[in-house]
Amino acid sequence: MTVPGSYGGPALTDEFWAAAAEHVLVRPVCRACGSSFFPPLIACPHCVAQDWEYRSSAGRGTIYSCAVVHKAPSPEFETPFPLAIVDLDGEGWGLLTTIVGAPSPRIGDPVEVTWRESGDRVLPAFRPVSTP
Ligand SMILES: [Zn+2]
Repeated sequence: MTVPGSYGGPALTDEFWAAAAEHVLVRPVCRACGSSFFPPLIACPHCVAQDWEYRSSAGRGTIYSCAVVHKAPSPEFETPFPLAIVDLDGEGWGLLTTIVGAPSPRIGDPVEVTWRESGDRVLPAFRPVSTP
């Protein structure tokens, strides 16, 4: 058996990007302790078990922290753009992501996942919740 993330095996993120291409947000969930975490790691950061699987997320969250980026990390990003840590509601995990449709997002704003093409990848981004 080839463990994801091991030398010569699939990357830990392969399944994440495959789901993203289908516009499905997923996160690692530990089978031992039930915790969600992100980014994907070989071992659960909560209990160190290496037994985890990807599960889909409802894609609704709240902005935990945010800033506006003025210097792009690579050419496919147009600046300025808002960058935020979004905590996924009721799922116990969060991710660093871009915010679209809100030039000046604020901490505590409710957001939902949306998708943007970037090169050959589909990236998750978050936008203000349109319907309560
Ligand atoms: Zn665990």
